[in-house]
Amino acid sequence: MQYDKNNIFAKIIKGEIPCKKIYENDFVLSFHDINPQKKIHALVIPKGAYVDLDDFLNNAKEKEILEFFKAISHVAKLLKISNIQGGYRTLSNIGKNGGQEVPHLHFHLFGGEIVGKMVTN
Ligand code: AMP
Repeated sequence: MQYDKNNIFAKIIKGEIPCKKIYENDFVLSFHDINPQKKIHALVIPKGAYVDLDDFLNNAKEKEILEFFKAISHVAKLLKISNIQGGYRTLSNIGKNGGQEVPHLHFHLFGGEIVGKMVTN
């Protein structure tokens, strides 16, 4: 799938649309989801232009991949939802059947309460 340079997360990275920022470094940006599904609902995105996890793992540099996954854990600690702080769920929707709405790779982090069943409608 071709990357859409005008998707909403690309605009957030460029600073064209505001976000409630949690963390940023050269490789990643994390912010609160605009429509939280749990008490804490954060997003972690790479700054590079990747449609989804498959695109990322196949085309990103190893440093980008390492920094991205390390950032998920770092953000969980910042939000006080890491395992020793209660725990959380992370997930990434991929494509139509996965329910992906924004075509820029993102991991959701849900926490701050019991998240519930793994998959619901
Ligand atoms: P997905 O369905 O996995 O693609 O998730 C996209 C997520 O992006 C949804 O949870 C939306 O609520 C969230 N979202 C869409 N626009 C924004 C925005 N401007 N700022 C923060 N989160 C957003």
